[in-house]
Formats: sequence, structure tokens, C-alpha cells
Amino acid sequence: MTQDTWGRVRDELKKEVGKNNYLTWIEPLKLADCDNGVARFEVPTSFVGTWVKRNFGDRIVHHLSAAGARVDRIEFDVSAPVTAAPKRADTAATSPAHPSSPASDITAFENSSPLDSRLTFNSFVVGKPNELAHAAARRVAEGGPVSFNPLFLYGGVGLGKTHLMHAIAWEARVRNPELKVLYLSAEQFMYRFVKALRDRNTLGFKDLYRSVDILMVDDVQFIAGKDSTQDEFFHTFNALIDQKKQIIISGDRAPGEIDGLEERIKSRLQRGLVVDLHPTDYELRLGILQQKLDEHLATGESLVIADGVLEFLAHRITSNVRVLEGALTRLFAFGSLVGRDITLDVAQDCLADILRASERKITVDEIMRKVSEHYNVRIADLLGPKRTRTIARPRQVAMYLAKTMTQRSLPEIGRRFGGRDHTTVIHAVRKIKELQDSDQRIAEDVVLLRRSLES
Ligand code: ADP
Ligand code: MG
Repeated sequence: MTQDTWGRVRDELKKEVGKNNYLTWIEPLKLADCDNGVARFEVPTSFVGTWVKRNFGDRIVHHLSAAGARVDRIEFDVSAPVTAAPKRADTAATSPAHPSSPASDITAFENSSPLDSRLTFNSFVVGKPNELAHAAARRVAEGGPVSFNPLFLYGGVGLGKTHLMHAIAWEARVRNPELKVLYLSAEQFMYRFVKALRDRNTLGFKDLYRSVDILMVDDVQFIAGKDSTQDEFFHTFNALIDQKKQIIISGDRAPGEIDGLEERIKSRLQRGLVVDLHPTDYELRLGILQQKLDEHLATGESLVIADGVLEFLAHRITSNVRVLEGALTRLFAFGSLVGRDITLDVAQDCLADILRASERKITVDEIMRKVSEHYNVRIADLLGPKRTRTIARPRQVAMYLAKTMTQRSLPEIGRRFGGRDHTTVIHAVRKIKELQDSDQRIAEDVVLLRRSLES
């Protein structure tokens, strides 16, 4: 098989899997060689290899065979680390600004909140942590028999809940422009309901909300504790479910865990499909950064981001995607203002505050918990008066970690450990420092505990 064949197969795959999947998963594959029915590809990371094999393996083999290559299996080798700058510039030249923006002539259902045209499935980067939520959202957007009703998406701030909801709305409208798709936040739902009450138009309100084909309510936790709104929500909800209309709800945690949400609503929500968006992992963050960079370069901006900068950001900014995007946006602005390449140094300088805020703060409580698990002693004993070696040593290790891994002062640490004097903490810190040189076990314990606390 030649590179030409692979080139043609790639084009086929692009049509089949869509631009976004293509850019994320197929384009990075480099055909290395092909013999004995095995096509070998170089991939930037083993994750990409695993993912591609699992999700697109069959299709790749199929298209390769169709193109005349004798292939019945594909294998992946990890190549050198991903490089960002030069390659991005190439791909950007061929991709439109928003590869995925839905046609702009789709008019929003008048009562819906406006949808952000950037939030589509095409611009949503899929990785392990959001794989399931993405698949469920797609399925729902494709319509057909309603099997996941309601779909409940939950996860922490900035993990893509709103993005997926908008994506569902766009996709559903593209597929069927007649559909009445109503997207709004739980907060807006409440305000509109309250306004309807005030205007003595609750009937109009009920009619409207019960006449939609797809109802999406974002951040449902907002109506927790707001009783009459919950009541109305519940009735709207039931009326739509009875009519087999699709409902999609998001929340910041699982239905059962939202305090102040009525039991009957919780149990209704749990009867559908409940999927969560997990915190991002490194691969996903890197994928998102690369996608955002592509989008930016596609606008015609010239910008050089040095190798390793995106990797650095993906590694350091772990809190949420919104912060990650904010960091990148600032780099874009900086680059265009000063017209300089973004090197690692520049990035570190320019993003110092964000990076500082992203440093994970380790707490004394966490340290106590880990130490107690590690040595199999009770936290109460770490805090208590016992002075036997099996308790005293772990307690000293915990104090040492508290001193070296948090900003807490010696007196504060003493206080947290059962009201001990700060001199006891000084002694513990000194002792463990010494022991790390003389006692292999303690040295290993400290390394392991540190690593587990930092992860
Ligand atoms: P949430 O509603 O869960 O708080 P959002 O959907 O508002 O989070 O996402 C925050 C930002 O991060 C948005 O700009 C969104 O486009 C972006 N984002 C989150 N997840 C992804 C993803 N998987 N791919 C691309 N962008 C993402
Ligand atoms: Mg949101």
C-alpha cells in the first residue's frame, strides 16, 4: 500500500466520521508500513491508538481493503511527542473558521434562549471522560424512538454540559427544522413562570411549555428549594414525557444528590438515562486546546505557538475547560498584540495568575486521610494522645507532609493535630527529614504519599 492509497482512504474516512473526529483521530495517524496484512501507524500517544482501534478500527480496515490494500489488521506505534505549531498551521489553511457552525438560516424557536453557534457536536472534542455523555447526547439529537427519556447530564463546572445541550439543539434542528426545540436554564424557567403568575397568564405558560418537541433545561439544581417552580416543572415534565417528547436536563451533580430537589422529581429523573461528564484528563485537555488553536488559526490569524506550550497548559490547568480556554484566548491576544511567538517562557509569564490559581491546594484533612489509609491507623489516633511507635510515626509523617505540602503554619498544624504545641510539629518535621536519609521504609512512604496527594 502506498501513501497515496492512505491519502484516499483518509478522505473517505473524513466523509464518514465527520470533520471533528477526523481532525482529532484520523489525521494524526501516520502510515508507517504495511505488510503481511498488517498496516502500521504511528500515533502521538497510546491513548490515540487505543481509541482509534476501538472506535474506527473496523472502518479503517474496511476502507483500506476497498482501496485495494491487503490489510486485515491495524497496529499502532507511539511516535515522538505531539508537536503543535507547524502542523497546526497546515491544517488551519484548509479548515473553515467554524468547521461545524450550523447553517445560520436556522431560526431559533422564538421562546428558546439563543443558542451559541460555536457549541456544536463538531466542535466538541470527545475523550474518555465525556465519551458516554457525548454518545448519549448524539443519540438523543438523532431522534428516532425515544429511548433515553429524560436524558440527565451532570458534571462539574465547565465540563461541557451546556455545550452538549446546545449541540443537541442544533443537530435536532438541522435534522428537522419543524421541531420546536426549547432550550433554557432552570433559572429562566423560574423567571418566566413567576412572570406568568404575575401577569395571570399561567395557562399560556403551561400551553407553551407543553407544546414543545424537545425541552432542555440547563442547571436544574437552580430550582432546588424553589417549591412552586419545582411543582410547575414537575407537571410540565410529566406532560411532555406522557406525550413521548424528549427532555434533556443538566445538573451539577446526580439527581439523587441535589439537595432541596423534590423526591418525586429526583425519581422521575432517575428513570431516564443519567450520564456524567468526568473531570477532563490530559489527553482530552490537549485535544481541546489543539482544536481551539485550529479554530483560531482558521480565522487567518498568524500565530506561532512553540512546541510544548499546549502540552504544558494541558498538564498544568486541570480545573475546567473554561479556564483552559481563557488561558488560550489570552495567549492569542498577547501574540497578536506584541507579535511575538508564544514560547513556553512567554506563556508562563503571561499566564502566571491562572497557573498559580490552578495549583492544586492540598489540605491537612487530605493528608490525614491518606496517611491514615497508608498506615492503616485511625484518624482519631493521629489526633489522639497515643504515643506508641505505630501511631506516633504516622502522625509525624502527617505533620511533616502538612508542613511541606501546605501553607499552614506550625502552630496551625499543631492545632489541627489534636491541639499539639508547635514545638511538637518542629520536632516531627526534623525527625522525618532525618529518617528519610537513614530509613528506607520511611523514605518510600513519604514518596508514595506525596505522589498520591499530588495526583
Ligand atoms: P458546563 O455547562 O458543564 O459548565 P460548558 O458547556 O459551558 O460547561 O463548557 C465550558 C467551555 O468549555 C465552553 O466554552 C465549551 O465549549 C468548552 N468545552 C467543554 N468541554 C469541551 C469539549 N469536550 N470540547 C470542546 N470544548 C469544550
Ligand atoms: Mg453550563
